[in-house]
Amino acid sequence: MPHWILAAAASSDSSSNPFQSILDFFKSPTFHLITLLFYFMLVVLWLACAYWVFKDARRRVDDKIILAVCVLTGIVFGPLGLIVYSIVRPPALLADRREQELEMQMIEQRLREDSRCSFCKTPVRDDYLVCPTCGRRLRSTCASCGKPIEPSWRVCPYCETDVHGVMPPASVYDRA
Ligand SMILES: [Zn+2]
Ligand SMILES: [Zn+2]
Repeated sequence: MPHWILAAAASSDSSSNPFQSILDFFKSPTFHLITLLFYFMLVVLWLACAYWVFKDARRRVDDKIILAVCVLTGIVFGPLGLIVYSIVRPPALLADRREQELEMQMIEQRLREDSRCSFCKTPVRDDYLVCPTCGRRLRSTCASCGKPIEPSWRVCPYCETDVHGVMPPASVYDRA
């Protein structure tokens, strides 16, 4: 027979104090075991929180020092650190941020390509009619209103004049 049962039985017999059995329970190995289990669960919960913070921070934080601070917060403050981290963590994932940066770079690249001479790659402005470097015609002008016309346009968007086929095939310098 386990001795805590004996102790409980003895105390209930010997003592008139109704709380004696409760006091005995707190001294019993069962309570000791429950306490140990509680501490064990607490440690597991603590470590789980710290690990979650580390895993999440690794996907969001680029800087090693900030990452270390996040992980330390998780280790030192456990569940509380996790809550604080969840509030102040960067909203975007690193992978998403890199994707966005790549997209922006691609858009910028396309814009840069658009504003270059297609023959000599000199940067040109939207309203240039010829490339200042190689003299190639970049766009024509409308015969009616004189506004710059893109090569692909059929009709002048400013004065509705039909401009299809107006653009000369060779560079302007060839005519001179
Ligand atoms: Zn050019
Ligand atoms: Zn026009």
